[in-house]
Amino acid sequence: MRIGIDLGGTKIEGLAIDREGRERLRRRIPAPRGDYSQTLSAIAALIADIERDAGERGPIGVGIPGTISPATGVVKNANSTWLNGRPLADDLPRLLGRPVRFANDANCFALSEATDGAAAGASIVFGVILGTGTGGGVVVDGRVLTGVNAIAGEWGHNPLPAPRDDERPGPACYCGRSGCIETFLSGAGLARDFGQAGADAADIATRAAAGEASAGVVMARYEDRLARALGSIINVLDPDVIVLGGGLSNIERLYANVPRLWTPYVFSDRVDTRLVRAKYGDSSGVRGAAWLWEAGDG
Ligand SMILES: [Zn+2]
Repeated sequence: MRIGIDLGGTKIEGLAIDREGRERLRRRIPAPRGDYSQTLSAIAALIADIERDAGERGPIGVGIPGTISPATGVVKNANSTWLNGRPLADDLPRLLGRPVRFANDANCFALSEATDGAAAGASIVFGVILGTGTGGGVVVDGRVLTGVNAIAGEWGHNPLPAPRDDERPGPACYCGRSGCIETFLSGAGLARDFGQAGADAADIATRAAAGEASAGVVMARYEDRLARALGSIINVLDPDVIVLGGGLSNIERLYANVPRLWTPYVFSDRVDTRLVRAKYGDSSGVRGAAWLWEAGDG
């Protein structure tokens, strides 16, 4: 049995899977927002609960927003800001009395889909979460690429490639720059482009599918932007498969349209990269955390 923990901003989810990836049990608790020490005890209590009910112990992987800085050992880049600057990778293993592996939540998503999900068997996988933000993770031959800065796969704060005149400088981003990919391709980015109060990404996709012209124009523009953004990823990484997760991955038309649109931006006469929807949806983060320990490691 392996245990995955998905440390989210509003909830903490725990999952135990067996060696074949079958789910044994799952628990979910509210995240103690704003409180680091309560977050630590909540994770420990969740693990104790899972192991008591499962009747055995297992190696523990934790998916976190942001990442553990290789230089300082503390959390950085987390939108759950109370984690930033905290030595989570020291404190949690000490509290539990055993080693714990950590990875960025988008990396966990990519690992889950590459291990036994929509990209199972592929050599190079780029996993993207299109939702509140635009996280990304890279898995090569079954292993997460972390990188010397622990930011491998973080494409969301690159500038949108090949910007049109009306896309420059682009919307201001919380990271301090303007025109980041995330400002165009997150759910909020799509909603902003549509510009009708109360209409979220799902509404826009539904209205486009029903033939509403203004929604169709916005969806087409979104697809073109996603194609440009992923085209530049293909040039660098040349992935076999790009897997989409997050709320916007439910928009069916992306999978036919975007690969048609990305070809002009890729330095190749043909593009065999496949664009697919995540198999495990919202569960991929916690499944990937459990997969951080490979067979035999634990
Ligand atoms: Zn940014």
